[in-house]
Amino acid sequence: MKHIIQTIAIASVALIAAGRADAATPSRPNIVVILADDLGYGDLACYGHPSIRTPNLDRMAADGMRFTDFYVAAEVCTPSRAALMTGRLPIRSGMCGDKRRVLFPNSTGGLPATELTIARMLKECGYATGCVGKWHLGHHPQFLPTSHGFDSYFGIPYSNDMDRDTSVGPKGRAAFWAPKSEYWKPPFMRDAVVLERGPDQTQLTPRYTAEALKFIRAHKAKPFFLYFAHNFPHVPLFASEKFHGKSRRGLYGDVVEELDWSVGQVLDTLRAEGLAENTLVFFTSDNGPWLTFETHGGSAGPLRDGKGSTWEGGMREPGIAWWPGRIKPGVINHELASSLDLLPTFAALAGATLPRNLLLDGVDMSPLLFGTGPGKRDTMFYYRGTQLFAVRKGSFKAHFITRSGYDKEPPAPHDPPLLFDLGSDPGERFDVAKDHPGVLADIAKEVERHRATVTPVPSQLEEAVKQN
Ligand code: MG
Repeated sequence: MKHIIQTIAIASVALIAAGRADAATPSRPNIVVILADDLGYGDLACYGHPSIRTPNLDRMAADGMRFTDFYVAAEVCTPSRAALMTGRLPIRSGMCGDKRRVLFPNSTGGLPATELTIARMLKECGYATGCVGKWHLGHHPQFLPTSHGFDSYFGIPYSNDMDRDTSVGPKGRAAFWAPKSEYWKPPFMRDAVVLERGPDQTQLTPRYTAEALKFIRAHKAKPFFLYFAHNFPHVPLFASEKFHGKSRRGLYGDVVEELDWSVGQVLDTLRAEGLAENTLVFFTSDNGPWLTFETHGGSAGPLRDGKGSTWEGGMREPGIAWWPGRIKPGVINHELASSLDLLPTFAALAGATLPRNLLLDGVDMSPLLFGTGPGKRDTMFYYRGTQLFAVRKGSFKAHFITRSGYDKEPPAPHDPPLLFDLGSDPGERFDVAKDHPGVLADIAKEVERHRATVTPVPSQLEEAVKQN
């Protein structure tokens, strides 16, 4: 009896404390960003893929909001991730380059300390912040997640095809067609410490998932931000035994189906812990499919080209937002949104005050998410390295320069620009520039306004030391 009374007393104190906390601070949601690597616009069943099974992402989309026109801010990993994490185009942070398009193991640069990240912003608001998976914004201590506002980090700090050990396995691309983990020796880290080199890549997705679930359970009592960035389906492809050989879409399908399982684990855990109604989950990918890897690369669906290019397939991505009870199930059709918009949106949700002089390229997408008004974004700038290749305004997209993602063709400048109506021609096949001189003039003005805000900074990607 005494024990029961004590329990009731403790429970009452806990409730009063919780009530006080609620009254003192507005309820701030947990935020989870799940990022795939090189997943194409057409790779999920809910985006039309005919043979890859993605029941968890399909359900997330059905219960949440699916964007038809969600963009990342670059066509390759490093600049895209920098833009997501800062709400700023990579041209402003120096996280882009024309000679080197991403960071490599011998790079010495990284995301400058002067950049405000989502993690630092939310940490200052009292959030617990965790990063699991691929970082690719600098692997030297001053650039790691733990130096950019994350309390913890667990993963490979760059791509899973880096640090190739050429003493084992076949040469060149042959190593990718039947990949073995021992061919690559990237570091696997906890916080700033390298735990191992060349981890068993068949276990990457399960290990990352276990870590993500552990983070959620450990921080359920206070608001948390989890940035869960998978290394896959970037090549080399690896799936665990449970998924290997199971899909109709070959190894690529196996890998995507395992990622889908992982998303299901996160959502199930949020539900089981009673956190679903207070957690925003956003799923997207860093850039389009790596088409030159044939069946080991994904699909951009009806969109043109893929990773590495500023055609739609390189930068338009699946985008799914989920928050039961807050986000009404639906599809955002043809309204623009971007990974650049995550930081300002999270700032609004967490009640963060942003520095006055911070020049953001993102806008708060809350009106779209919560159905309270039209979206605030009507333009999208498509950079390849430091060069502005294209601009979308409304339904129209003008290309000043075009170039395929990875073939050897030189860049093709266009004057007048090519113009496509992405509503009637999402595959960018039919140039309508001559029918719309007014649209081109309007886009030219947007470019002029935009360029006036850009101050050149040194490229962090072209800083490198020679490998010995
Ligand atoms: Mg990528």
